Amino acid sequence: MPESPPKRSPLANARILARRQALRLRAWHRWRDGGPGDPARIRPGTRIPFRCNLCGTANAGTLAELSREALTCAHCGSNVRFRAMAYLVTKEVLGAPLLLPGLPLRKDIAGVGLSDAMTYAAPLAEKFDYENTFYHTDPHLDIADIDASRVGRYDFLVASDVFEHVAPPVAPAFANARRMLKPGGKLVFTVPFTLDGETKEHFPELFDWSLTEDGGTWTLTNRTREGKRETFTDLVFHGGPGSTLEMRVFSLESLMREFAAAGFARVRIASEPYLPFGIHWPEPWSVPLVAYA
Ligand SMILES: [Zn+2]
Repeated sequence: MPESPPKRSPLANARILARRQALRLRAWHRWRDGGPGDPARIRPGTRIPFRCNLCGTANAGTLAELSREALTCAHCGSNVRFRAMAYLVTKEVLGAPLLLPGLPLRKDIAGVGLSDAMTYAAPLAEKFDYENTFYHTDPHLDIADIDASRVGRYDFLVASDVFEHVAPPVAPAFANARRMLKPGGKLVFTVPFTLDGETKEHFPELFDWSLTEDGGTWTLTNRTREGKRETFTDLVFHGGPGSTLEMRVFSLESLMREFAAAGFARVRIASEPYLPFGIHWPEPWSVPLVAYA
């Protein structure tokens, strides 16, 4: 007769079950908290499974592939920056990093985006009382000159790679971002920035200006406030020529000064990785910032 397995007491069984559950829970917490998510400990070329927090799709990619702008979600085409915007909205406003598709409706939370990419603007609009706005088209919002109806209305504001395109002076844009937020509201923010020196304004005396194109060469013609004429041909556009002119390259120190001058209570450098959503920032520059009203 085959030997039957040794009988365990109900207490021992319960202990084993509890131990298994604890292990499973710990693994889940490690996954949720970004572990074994120290990118420095992942071998180059290792494919990391991640879930797109905008559309919920399971993806995989190497750390090198998961760069700031590369479109790495096979379904919605999100990049690290887009996923980071939604990751930071849920983490900062709801207190935990959450997948947008599984989120219960939170129409009590008001947010606004400045030319946000559709891939995260659409799911944000579904879950929150969120409106994406544009400088050139409706719904219109010019962050340098906001409507009084928008003051003190929002729990969060997303401005991703926008402020480097605001015509100088840029200080009113920071002040308006602060004014639009409720007390305790959060600005989720990215711009390309350098780690040293001051912000480089490309056209500090911009006043009455226009862009013209001749044989593929773009020229900016400006008349300064004092009536002096200037022309610039060394122009940088983001998203292709003629689309969005780069007005400046910020430095981190200047950015911190702008936030403080605008009345933000504090700023957090939000460069923490979150590999479960395929988010990591291998470089210390141009990472997201969160400014607290
Ligand atoms: Zn996606």
